[in-house]
Amino acid sequence: MKGFAMLSINNVGWIEKENPVAGPYDAIVRPLAISPCTSDIHTVFEGAIGDRHNMVLGHEAVGEVVEVGSEVKDFKPGDRIVVPAITPDWRSLEAQAGFHQHSNGMLSGWKFSNFKDGVFGEYFHVNDADMNLALLPDEISLESAVMITDMMTTGFHGAEMADIQLGSSVAVIGIGAVGLMAIAGSKLRGAGRIIGVGSRPVCVEAAEFYGATDIVNYRNGDIVKQIMDLTNGKGVDRVIMAGGGVETLAQAVAVVKPGGVVSNVNYHGSGDTLPIPRLEWGCGMAHKKIMGGLCPGGRLRMEMLIDLVKYNRVDLSKLVTHVFNGFEHVEEALLLMKDKPRDLIKPVVIIDK
Ligand code: NAD
Ligand code: ZN
Repeated sequence: MKGFAMLSINNVGWIEKENPVAGPYDAIVRPLAISPCTSDIHTVFEGAIGDRHNMVLGHEAVGEVVEVGSEVKDFKPGDRIVVPAITPDWRSLEAQAGFHQHSNGMLSGWKFSNFKDGVFGEYFHVNDADMNLALLPDEISLESAVMITDMMTTGFHGAEMADIQLGSSVAVIGIGAVGLMAIAGSKLRGAGRIIGVGSRPVCVEAAEFYGATDIVNYRNGDIVKQIMDLTNGKGVDRVIMAGGGVETLAQAVAVVKPGGVVSNVNYHGSGDTLPIPRLEWGCGMAHKKIMGGLCPGGRLRMEMLIDLVKYNRVDLSKLVTHVFNGFEHVEEALLLMKDKPRDLIKPVVIIDK
């Protein structure tokens, strides 16, 4: 089969691979729609997780099941399914402990385009199909469905880790697709004021659509000063980090109130340390909690997010600004994600209706 792959750090291209084979609990899937992720960019062009050779890229897909193993009970060839970016080993101690993202090792629930071939192939392999696939309802478009697999689960996890309370004030640093979903998730959890930190007009407009009450432009000067000015010097209850470099942790710690939470879902692809400012962290005594997490995956998570979309609690269509038709456009879509033209939030490649 053909796949679009990371050949080595900084190099991508089309390669031929053996078709994947299903074990007894697995499925083989043909993608119907795929989307490149900023994480693919960190992986290829920053070498953020180390070198990978001839590994098919991509971890955001909806598809059609073409084959299942002998022990798969709930899915069959022909089913249209949503495939989470994170497909854990559910038979692991980490999953029992409640952290399926790290099943069998830190970040190891993230398999596609990390430890094994991703979804930018003519076919791809899904481990533990009964636990890692979810049926796609007819009401949800392919474009929206592919946004559930990673962008929605990640942004919403930012809001969950931030432990948003009714009326919490929140700052979301970075309003690409993940930050936009963090805004939507914060609003659904009952946040009061939501300050979106971003600059591109297309993202600002979407941030307001999803629930931002204020916008701070990081290109107009120090965001700490801007957020402090907006909040009469008090700061915010919660910060969700979804963009920017390692310096954003110091900004987040500075603007969160004592007792508040900083929740990071950003993939810090470069820099050796994430410095915490001593004074702003109350010399270590400010009760400012810092959380960081990989998005939840698996079937139940997908089914719950699918319901939020199906029952119109959130409209994902605003995230998709570019739609391509045909598998051959994967490369173009990936490079768009790298170059981030001003009118881009997310591209989707439709392979087959
Ligand atoms: P994105 O690049 O579309 O969005 C990030 C935005 O932050 C961009 O619009 C960028 O212009 C903006 N930005 C840059 N510097 C900034 C600054 N100093 N302050 C505020 N904003 C700034 O990416 P995305 O798809 O929204 O993903 C966001 C991050 O989440 C990426 O690092 C991605 O790799 C990561 N990610 C993490 C997970 C997870 O499981 N934790 C899953 C998916 C993606
Ligand atoms: Zn991703």
